Amino acid sequence: MIGCAELTFLTNFAMNIPAPRFVTNFGKVPNFAKVANKTPDTVETTIKDIRKLDLAALKQFLAAQGEPAFRAKQIQEWLWKKSATDFDQMTNLSVPLRNLLKDSFVINAIAVDKTQVSSDQTIKSAFRLHDGHLIEGVLIPADDRMTACVSSQVGCSLTCKFCATGYMDRKRNLDAAEIYDQVVAIRNQAEAHYQTPLTNIVYMGMGEPLLNYANVLESVDRITSPDGLGMAPKRITVSTAGIAKMIKKLGDDEVKFRLALSLHAANDTKRDQIMPINESNTLEALREALKYFYKKTGTRVTYEYIVFHHFNDTLQDAQELYEFTKHTPCKVNIIEYNPIAEAQFQNAEGDKIAQFGRFLEDKGVTVNIRRSRGKDIDAACGQLAGKDK
Ligand code: SF4
Repeated sequence: MIGCAELTFLTNFAMNIPAPRFVTNFGKVPNFAKVANKTPDTVETTIKDIRKLDLAALKQFLAAQGEPAFRAKQIQEWLWKKSATDFDQMTNLSVPLRNLLKDSFVINAIAVDKTQVSSDQTIKSAFRLHDGHLIEGVLIPADDRMTACVSSQVGCSLTCKFCATGYMDRKRNLDAAEIYDQVVAIRNQAEAHYQTPLTNIVYMGMGEPLLNYANVLESVDRITSPDGLGMAPKRITVSTAGIAKMIKKLGDDEVKFRLALSLHAANDTKRDQIMPINESNTLEALREALKYFYKKTGTRVTYEYIVFHHFNDTLQDAQELYEFTKHTPCKVNIIEYNPIAEAQFQNAEGDKIAQFGRFLEDKGVTVNIRRSRGKDIDAACGQLAGKDK
């Protein structure tokens, strides 16, 4: 699906903008601010976010204005590496060129709307998007790592019963720059509050990343590029509720980042009850997709499992989890649940969780029991919902 915000621009400069965006050849260089073509295969345009142009497109625009090609690299450096939010920050460009850029483009940067600091040092931020929507991102400090948890969509369409975001409508996908901006903002918080660089990024905030595939992969490219943040792909984890076809696509694309599956139940009857996506992406389909992903990438998968009180907390459930996960190298993260107002689920008792974990470990499974973070500010897993809007 593409959001309406992504349908606002058509140009022959858009050569390398990844699908599923429209690309139309007008046959001549347009004024980026004023293109309005009414032919049936096009739509009316608005001023373009300059960060939707790749380097080649930017060079082409500059050439048409009589500017040298090396300016494109300078501009991109300002936009990504230096995270400029205003053309006037680009001080190594001439004033006329800055004015030209201002007339032709916008920079749709996200803005921090509100931050909350938890008693455990977790920081949750509400980010305001250029069209007014709110999303949330979280900084999770720990002894050995500094993790940014970012959103990939405004809301979510998957309606998982235990998740606050699942009770919102999906409004639209985030573009790559909006995801990238969250990482930059959270990185800045890590450095300002804890004098520590960001070490890890998880796509576990609002939304299903694999239903925003092209933008998520483009954002990872930007984050890992030396021309962006230069982070290692292995420090990035994309978490999915389980879209089998797209997991296979990750394998075909031989991605270098890590993949996590929010599993939470390893039999279809139970999983259908809490994650409606399971009805069309059964455990069998997911298992096959994950085997394919591992064969193509050699990257072990992480399974996330919330142990819900009186729902999936027995040793029979643990046995089913073991049976599901044993086909490829993996690890299991058992995540503490944080009740939300919209649903009745409760976290299992501590000794049950410990017993559950020990059962898996005795079978040779790598298990981490993850304490929840940021509960007091609704920043914990399953609690993000952009409540301030
Ligand atoms: S858990 Fe993830 S996929 Fe499910 S509703 Fe929440 S945000 Fe969407």
